[in-house]
Amino acid sequence: MDVLQMYRETGALHEGHFLLRSGRHSPMFMQSVTLMQHPLYADAIGEAIGRLFEDVGLDFVIGPAMGGVTLAFVVARALGVRALFAEKDGQGGMYVREGLLIRPGERFLAVEDVITTGGSVKRAIEAAEAKGARCIGVGGIVDRSGGKAGFGVPFKTLTALEFPTYDPGDCPLCRQGIPLLEI
Ligand SMILES: [Zn+2]
Repeated sequence: MDVLQMYRETGALHEGHFLLRSGRHSPMFMQSVTLMQHPLYADAIGEAIGRLFEDVGLDFVIGPAMGGVTLAFVVARALGVRALFAEKDGQGGMYVREGLLIRPGERFLAVEDVITTGGSVKRAIEAAEAKGARCIGVGGIVDRSGGKAGFGVPFKTLTALEFPTYDPGDCPLCRQGIPLLEI
């Protein structure tokens, strides 16, 4: 599966000159929500990630809202388990709302579309573990951590991608005069 091509086909891969939220400049950014709005693509992604974890024995899949909601759903459907999500609690952490049941001892997979630092998927894991469940893996579409993301459990993505980011004071795209777009 050519994941990058799927991002391209759906207009979810933006190439040019972008001001990232970090303040750095980048020739590229990926907007997974643009890809995942298409059920056929989303299902294909879910099935492919599901195949990476089909033998581990799971009770549910959880993703951080909002980006991880659809992804958790399609992976959970592929694996025949429940789909949950975690939400921001307003204090820097995440929680799992009432009505999404978690039983102590349940085993879960945490998913996120593009993993850079892995911060939000870690907070989703903490939210589910606070209810007594146990994370047995982390899955994603794209690993953009440059090999730095680690969760203490098996971590698998469909692809890994590294592209450069530049300091605004030393950016070749600025030097070429390419217009800078804010994302
Ligand atoms: Zn620049």
